[in-house]
Amino acid sequence: MAGVALVSGGSRGIGRACVLRLAADGFDVGFSYRSDEASAVELEKEIGELGVRALAARVDVTDAGAVADWVARTERELGPISAAVTSAGIVSDGLVVSMSSARWEDVLRTNLDGVFHVCRAVLFPMVKRRSGSITMISSVSGVHGRAGQANYAAAKAGIIGFAKSLAREVGPRGVRANVVAPGLIDTRMTEDLSEAVRREMSERIALGRAGRPEEVADLVAYLSSDRATYVTGSVVEVHGGYGA
Ligand code: NDP
Repeated sequence: MAGVALVSGGSRGIGRACVLRLAADGFDVGFSYRSDEASAVELEKEIGELGVRALAARVDVTDAGAVADWVARTERELGPISAAVTSAGIVSDGLVVSMSSARWEDVLRTNLDGVFHVCRAVLFPMVKRRSGSITMISSVSGVHGRAGQANYAAAKAGIIGFAKSLAREVGPRGVRANVVAPGLIDTRMTEDLSEAVRREMSERIALGRAGRPEEVADLVAYLSSDRATYVTGSVVEVHGGYGA
């Protein structure tokens, strides 16, 4: 067996694809969701059919105490976490000139504070055991910027600085930290994009199409595995050749 994986925001989209891919690789998987209980229950069942254990938990990643409790419960019920993936995220787009403080704070709290909460909670036991891997989902918006997404881009760029620093802090203790920065991926997060925005984005993608969550999960599974033992502090973009 591969060990125990923990995925925040695992109930749907990219997180869900990571949960399923890690389960297929033999991990027992603990995953969190914020509100969509039906999807979480269905996913728990699907994982069980793969012959590994699953543990779904309703946890808001902005709540540091709830995240710490979730991590402790996952270790108690499934065992030591060897791979953690932070995928919980939201968008709330708008131009900076008219952006409310609430819109700024919501996005920063979920997308950046949430990552900090999960990483801090899993780190202590990983450092004690001298092994572990953390993979954080950022975005091409955090690498290249995107008009209308300054709050989201700031959070996603923040993840990159955080992960690079963390990799230096915990590398000597056998723990790896990496970032995956996806481009346009077909999930609920992007289903409301207008046809015009979708067309404009697709024209900037060399492969001419949006990606599938599974195409991100393949990379996350690699980074979480023993095939990536020399990869840390890296930002890996998965965007079908996205460019200006
Ligand atoms: P989805 O909207 O499909 O899924 C988001 C997930 O995050 C859900 O499981 C949701 O739970 C959970 N979530 C949201 N807020 C919280 C919170 N406060 N606490 C706990 N869980 C929360 O999004 P995607 O799968 O598309 O996105 C996953 C990650 O990938 C995000 O970090 C996103 O920024 C990033 N990303 C996505 C891209 C895309 O094109 N789709 C591109 C680049 C990066 P629930 O269902 O219960 O609400």
